[in-house]
Amino acid sequence: MKRLALFFFMVGFSLSGYTESRFDKVEITTIPVATNIYMLMGAGGNIGVSVGDDGLLIVDAQYAPLSEKIKAALLMLGKGSPTYLLNTHYHGDHTGGNINFGEHTLIVAHENVRARLISEDSPGVALPKVIFKQQTSIYFNAGEVRLVHMPAGHTDGDSIVFFIQANVVHMGDHYFKDRFPYVDLAAGGTVDGLIVNVGKALHEIDADTRVIPGHGSLASREDLQNYYDMLVATSEMVTSQINDGRSIDELLQQGLDDRWESWAAGFISEDRWIQTLYTSFVEGR
Ligand SMILES: [Zn+2]
Repeated sequence: MKRLALFFFMVGFSLSGYTESRFDKVEITTIPVATNIYMLMGAGGNIGVSVGDDGLLIVDAQYAPLSEKIKAALLMLGKGSPTYLLNTHYHGDHTGGNINFGEHTLIVAHENVRARLISEDSPGVALPKVIFKQQTSIYFNAGEVRLVHMPAGHTDGDSIVFFIQANVVHMGDHYFKDRFPYVDLAAGGTVDGLIVNVGKALHEIDADTRVIPGHGSLASREDLQNYYDMLVATSEMVTSQINDGRSIDELLQQGLDDRWESWAAGFISEDRWIQTLYTSFVEGR
């Protein structure tokens, strides 16, 4: 694959006739990751793509209004509808597009993804048709694509997807690159679980692994290690303060170490991360 020639290209076109929405101006960017593996960035969770003799396999589908743009970007890589769509978890910025792929594409996810989408009244076409409990593998494009359930981390139904031969991992929302994470406590997520799961992923990969984050730019094992170190340091700090009898107000007043200042971005401010750490640890007792 001509990686340098392909470096990255943009696919974008206006959808005249559609009502103005925040998705109208979103462009889908295609980034080569490894031989036959790409990452699509638009709005919502990053999409992983495998392309080859067997066709297309995608990981996550962003929001429904972006599906036509995503399909146009996929057409530049390979013909036909994707054979598989793997959902890393149930959040709408990763599964919203299911509804526009489900007719021609087999959706695969952890059983809790299906259960949570059903509880949100998602239509049948948008539901995973193949589910698993711990892990499963799909042999596709001359390689193994391994989905491994990561319990009680970002939610209770997350999977991390390993493209074994290509040495690529799609972390889903267990990984926000260079940012504090979002832990969905109401959907069975926990900070402790998130840390354990990211530690497991680090154990499985090496210095050459390309790491696709749920949100943010393409990363390396070293980037993921930095994120893990932040998770451990901030959670240790908050745990020890809780053990010293500090209240949430005192923790918010004091804040985290200055070295984590740049990690507050997007919708997770430093205060929100402290609040998540506090709630997760206090409720976890
Ligand atoms: Zn999410």
